[in-house]
Amino acid sequence: MSMLPYGRQSISDDDVKAVAEVLRGDWLTTGPAVDRFEKELGAVAGQSNPAVAVTSGTAALHVAYAAAGVGPGDEVITSPLTFLATATSAAIHGATVVFADVCEDTGNLDPAAVEALVTDRTKVISGVDFAGHPMDAPGLRAVADQAGALLLEDAAHSIGGSLDGRPVGSLADLTTFSFFPTKNLTTAEGGAVVALDPDIARKARTFKGIGMVRDPDRLRTTDEGPWWYEMPDLGLNYRLPDVLCALGSSQLTRLSQFKARRAQITQRYHEGLADVPGLRLPTQRVGADPVWHFYPLRVLDGRRRGLFERLRAEGIGVQVNYIPVHWQPWFADRGYQRGSCPVAETYYEQEISLPMFPDLLDADVDRVIDGIRRHFGA
Ligand SMILES: *Cc1c(COP(=O)(O)O)cnc(C)c1O
Repeated sequence: MSMLPYGRQSISDDDVKAVAEVLRGDWLTTGPAVDRFEKELGAVAGQSNPAVAVTSGTAALHVAYAAAGVGPGDEVITSPLTFLATATSAAIHGATVVFADVCEDTGNLDPAAVEALVTDRTKVISGVDFAGHPMDAPGLRAVADQAGALLLEDAAHSIGGSLDGRPVGSLADLTTFSFFPTKNLTTAEGGAVVALDPDIARKARTFKGIGMVRDPDRLRTTDEGPWWYEMPDLGLNYRLPDVLCALGSSQLTRLSQFKARRAQITQRYHEGLADVPGLRLPTQRVGADPVWHFYPLRVLDGRRRGLFERLRAEGIGVQVNYIPVHWQPWFADRGYQRGSCPVAETYYEQEISLPMFPDLLDADVDRVIDGIRRHFGA
């Protein structure tokens, strides 16, 4: 039997055409396709300003923390139930990462747990839209405002989603996206940052462009000549090229289709698994309009590993999201303790992510459901 992947890009002939057109044109990078993609992304994210396109979701987080002014002595509170980069891209700026526990239902950062960990050094609170379900932005916003901290939303899973009618991208001070092939839309590698405050957005743009500025009103020396540029801040080259932005723009035209198909697949898993004992299905909060990035099934009674090995042996590409980040050796070596975020750790111990991508066939979904039902004798 063929191996069924866990996630997979959906590439159309139009996507191929859009990329080929750029390859035959004048700009491979830093041309009109970047501007276009950034404007379109800004609109999808509910912003009047363009997004800042970068080379990955990890780069987006690194840029976002730079734009927030995160540095040594600052604390960044985040969820351990996430991909490494949400935490490590703050640590690499010299900040201290503080892990707060998650909500039992969504696996998203719990505002009450965050509130208990706030100090006068808290600079950013970073939630994650786990599996595509938007974080509790109003709850986290209240804690962030009280702490005088910025709110960041790692929306690597959730572009196109919304909460209480407000699009993901407009809920937090800073929102980051990833366009890795398994995500909800792809540019191969890629990501983006949006910020509510134009000054923070400008800092993000400067950081992704090696800290260089040419804008006359940002220069200290204005009469040296037309070649002149200055570097008011440090930065890196995180520019997403035109070739990949063209792919992104083409993909964006199908984002709502992708979202609808992901919702159908989620519904099919719900229906096929609802009566199997010992499972816990993902739920949706009132007001949340998720883009399901994967299907986070929970397996009770210590039976997750057996199911994982069984499905993999049957050629079904399941995954586990996520190994709690504070368990990683780099954090353990710095005194972070297992057991410090019990809800997230239990979530991890039970979690198995089922295949989810727009081109997944109903027959494939049924094959996954069937494998699970047989494993539990249901
Ligand atoms: C994928 C992902 C990232 C990193 O994105 P890349 O594009 O792979 O660098 C960050 N956070 C979360 C939650 C992710 O799933």
